[in-house]
Amino acid sequence: MISYSLKNQAALVTGANSGIGEAIAIGLGEAGANVVVNYVVDPASAEAVADKIRSFGSKAITLKADVSNEEEVKSMYKAMFKEFGTIDILVNNAGLQRDAAFHEMTLDQWNKVINVNLTGQFLCAREAIIEMLRRGVVQDRSVACGKIICMSSVHELIPWGGHVNYASSKGAIKMFMQSLAQEYGDRKIRVNSICPGAIQTPINTGAWSTPQALASLMSLIPYNRIGQPVDIANLAVFLASDASDYITGASIFIDGGMTVFEGFAEGG
Ligand code: NAD
Repeated sequence: MISYSLKNQAALVTGANSGIGEAIAIGLGEAGANVVVNYVVDPASAEAVADKIRSFGSKAITLKADVSNEEEVKSMYKAMFKEFGTIDILVNNAGLQRDAAFHEMTLDQWNKVINVNLTGQFLCAREAIIEMLRRGVVQDRSVACGKIICMSSVHELIPWGGHVNYASSKGAIKMFMQSLAQEYGDRKIRVNSICPGAIQTPINTGAWSTPQALASLMSLIPYNRIGQPVDIANLAVFLASDASDYITGASIFIDGGMTVFEGFAEGG
């Protein structure tokens, strides 16, 4: 019998009070995990996510930390271990965009995106792996020692003019994830990336909030609908569970077909 249960496992989801992270935190909680809902602004929305998780009978706490700040990340883990004892599942989800034409891009815009989207994943994964190595496999929770899910994007594959900082950060996540999977596979830590296409969240309001923008977006998506956060949550629960135990080092695209390049159906 395939098991998607995450019963008694401790999970941390970064940027979990909005969009994709919120749906993943709720999905993990529904599957039985105890969840840390990390946030950096808007504690009320983080509490609402935690309440929803508690409604499934799982435990949830909210912890404020900027994932790009080493001290804040360490304090967050300390508080998590005090509450849940350990970490089994890390979802490195927090991310942002600071868009600009490349020749007008400021160093602040570049650094902000790299610091949150790439260095943030480094800081959170390092603390998780230290704890997973210390603890080892606990068979009655999971056959793996730990599961790390990196939130990448179709833009680890599709170049994105006007968003060079963002595409660079996601391209780097591909090698970050694969190198970790290679380094820690023998210790039974699985590391994978989720690569969403266009998902309806606050990060990309401009791409779906008017009928014209949505129509233009649909020309990029063979499956002809915008993705929803729950689409990504379903995949995250699978990747966190023993049902995916032989998957590590994989970038999984979940994009309604965006990466089959629909424009080539009639062009090229
Ligand atoms: P969102 O803006 O709704 O959520 C991003 C979350 O990250 C928010 O909770 C935000 O507060 C948090 N965050 C930002 N900076 C942070 C920091 N320094 N420390 C901690 N948290 C921080 O957007 P989303 O679409 O849900 O994005 C989630 C992830 O999915 C991002 O990594 C994004 O790059 C990725 N992604 C999104 C899409 C999409 O179409 N929405 C597509 C591909 C990839």
